[in-house]
Amino acid sequence: QKYTKEDVLRLCKENNVRFIRLQFTDILGIPKNVSITISQLEKALNNELMFDGSSIEGFVRIEESDMYLYPDPNTFVIYPWRPIEEGAVARMICDIYNPDGTPFAGDPRYVLRRALKEAAEMGFTFNVGPEAEFFLFHTAPDGSPTINTHDKAGYFDLSPVDLGENARRDMVLTLEKMGFEIEASHHEVAPGQHEIDFKYSDALDIADKIITFKMVVRTVAQRHGLHATFMAKPIFGEAGNGMHMNQSLFKDGKNIFWDPQAPDQLSETALQYIAGIMKHARAIAAITNPTVNAYKRLVPGYEAPVYIAWSAQNRSPLIRIPAKRGLSTRIELRNPDPTCNPYLALAVALKAGLDGIKNKLQAPPPCNRNIYEMSPQEREELGIASLPGTLQEALQELSRDEVIKEALGPHVYNRYLEAKYQEWDEYRTRVHQWEIDRYLATY
Ligand code: ADP
Ligand code: GLU
Ligand code: MG
Ligand code: MG
Repeated sequence: QKYTKEDVLRLCKENNVRFIRLQFTDILGIPKNVSITISQLEKALNNELMFDGSSIEGFVRIEESDMYLYPDPNTFVIYPWRPIEEGAVARMICDIYNPDGTPFAGDPRYVLRRALKEAAEMGFTFNVGPEAEFFLFHTAPDGSPTINTHDKAGYFDLSPVDLGENARRDMVLTLEKMGFEIEASHHEVAPGQHEIDFKYSDALDIADKIITFKMVVRTVAQRHGLHATFMAKPIFGEAGNGMHMNQSLFKDGKNIFWDPQAPDQLSETALQYIAGIMKHARAIAAITNPTVNAYKRLVPGYEAPVYIAWSAQNRSPLIRIPAKRGLSTRIELRNPDPTCNPYLALAVALKAGLDGIKNKLQAPPPCNRNIYEMSPQEREELGIASLPGTLQEALQELSRDEVIKEALGPHVYNRYLEAKYQEWDEYRTRVHQWEIDRYLATY
């Protein structure tokens, strides 16, 4: 517990906070908020504030629209970008409750809390470190985003070639003011592409932080006249945006993925966790890779995974084991992209891993060869399956996977499927430029 209600009231007073944003996310991971003035703060902290949930994606049917916001004092933060004399703006992230005092089943934060509770009952803390990538593009004279960059820099390059350098530094400083511990920030492989990494923490804190992170990156980019996008694959022929999720389980303060005695120093539990993720990977993709566009990133040649395998050595498989051991022993899940709803993504990954542990699933041997260079027959002999190739395929897998469906719960599962099939159908029925280029003159 970082802050109590009393701390929040005191901090608001000390810092001349006038407005508080009560924030939550919809099922698709889009942040929403209602702004209250300081006069309403006590009421909000006593969980007495209501809002109309019927207009929020996937939340409720119209006839049962009154929801309560329970602000989590631990998530209190003052936005660093307003001069204090005008009155500062703060925010808290909320849990959503029904009028009868039960948690609302459509709240993604609740979905993650439920999975974390199961882990806690097994004695586990779920630690996560995300690596979110994004592009910085120019805006058009009318302010609308483009996919243009004058930046010619590549991986780890230094300015002055790096156009986004100033913007990125500003992002890091802003995030630090908001309580992030930034471990690294660098240019990524594609022109205009960047990454900022922050220190791992328990999964609920990290999911909250991912939402905040994306908001800060976009806000600061805008102030530099740039457009930041987390879209998975904005440019054909360039690397896409991933959001690797480094994961480990701790028990009594110890990292139980580490076993100095074992091969690769990976514990039995770590291998079972890996096996669980691999077993459910195709259904997990529907959540971690939630858009039509996401599947254009998951193709060979851009350090994004295509095949369901794990390795301690190379970057082509779904799961990589970074070299660090001891407290830093972790698995890196490489398929998630930053358009996913982080609450749901972490909930399904954890549930899959726990399924592996509970059922003592056996991980296949690590695959230390470049899978992209294998023939389809070789892959088949080694039993290496692929991730889904389209959103539709992923949704079909989700429908077949009881563990992942249970992780989401029926409310979120049904609403999510409905929204995503609609998205898929919109795409599927449209005529795209590629088809015109390919067929119009030929036939
Ligand atoms: P990469 O090898 O992909 O460049 P990094 O060294 O940049 O990875 O680390 C990425 C993330 O891993 C960081 O967010 C870091 O805090 C996180 N991390 C370190 N130790 C753990 C752990 N035990 N559990 C989960 N995440 C961890
Ligand atoms: N951009 C790559 C992806 O789409 C990842 C690059 C990296 O390994 O950091 O996942
Ligand atoms: Mg990266
Ligand atoms: Mg990584």
